[in-house]
Amino acid sequence: MSTRDLHTHSTASDGALAPASLVAAAAGAGLRELALTDHDTAAGLEEAAAAARVHGLQFIPAVEISVTWSSRLLHVVGLNIDPHAPVLCRGLAAQQQVRLTRAETIAARLMRAGVHGALEGAQRLAGQGQIGRTHFARFLVEEGHAASISAAFRRYLKAATPRDEKWATLEDALDWVHAAGGVAVLAHPLAYGFTGAWLSRAIEAFKAARGDAIEVVCGTSTPEDIARSARYARRYDLFASVGSDFHGYHEAFLRLGRLQPLPGDLRPVLC
Ligand code: AMP
Ligand code: MN
Ligand code: MN
Ligand code: MN
Repeated sequence: MSTRDLHTHSTASDGALAPASLVAAAAGAGLRELALTDHDTAAGLEEAAAAARVHGLQFIPAVEISVTWSSRLLHVVGLNIDPHAPVLCRGLAAQQQVRLTRAETIAARLMRAGVHGALEGAQRLAGQGQIGRTHFARFLVEEGHAASISAAFRRYLKAATPRDEKWATLEDALDWVHAAGGVAVLAHPLAYGFTGAWLSRAIEAFKAARGDAIEVVCGTSTPEDIARSARYARRYDLFASVGSDFHGYHEAFLRLGRLQPLPGDLRPVLC
């Protein structure tokens, strides 16, 4: 098992655990190295870093940035960032505005689908954290509209999510990460539902924008997934990352501390 996990979420975005509790859980699960990668925010990093000092865990400040590329959604993880870097802070502030506007659109569409009070409900579940679709999904489950988070995505959120999302461009996201001294990782390459041709195109665009690494081992990876992602890392000469995408909710994302090791010939990111 890998003792590093470079992709996790806390209540600063759509995770179930507060940053300090996440760090405690990671230490308890036997991890030595942890990155907190909340969606479009660095708000949980200070609390997590302080907890990591207590638990003797190596902590990597990080963020997961939503990107619109060719009318599609990509996620870029920025590892080892300076959360106070002005370029990054300005970029994340713009993303947070997109989140709020999008949440209003989603709520309006859910209203038309017969779901009332979704904005207030999702905001309540998000608390001080960045609002996201997981909060809507949890609200839909709470209110009995869906039996599970994945069912809520399937039945409601797929249709309610606007198609013309205005997240950061790939170039902007990578510039923010690099301006903050970080390393840019293409997150969960097999989770976008792309065909092989589209995935190659996305990775080429990522590489052209000076992307550094790709997640090869994810929480949900099968051995075949790891082998396939590893081929992309080799073909495009990218460093390799490992990250569970732990949220603490969804069935599939509960692999904190139980990640497979990277294939031995790959170059691990940040080593
Ligand atoms: P957002 O950043 O608001 O677009 O929400 C994206 C997040 O929603 C992902 O990081 C996951 O946590 C969650 N998510 C997306 N699709 C699904 C799904 N099919 N089932 C469960 N969770 C999902
Ligand atoms: Mn998430
Ligand atoms: Mn993601
Ligand atoms: Mn994630």
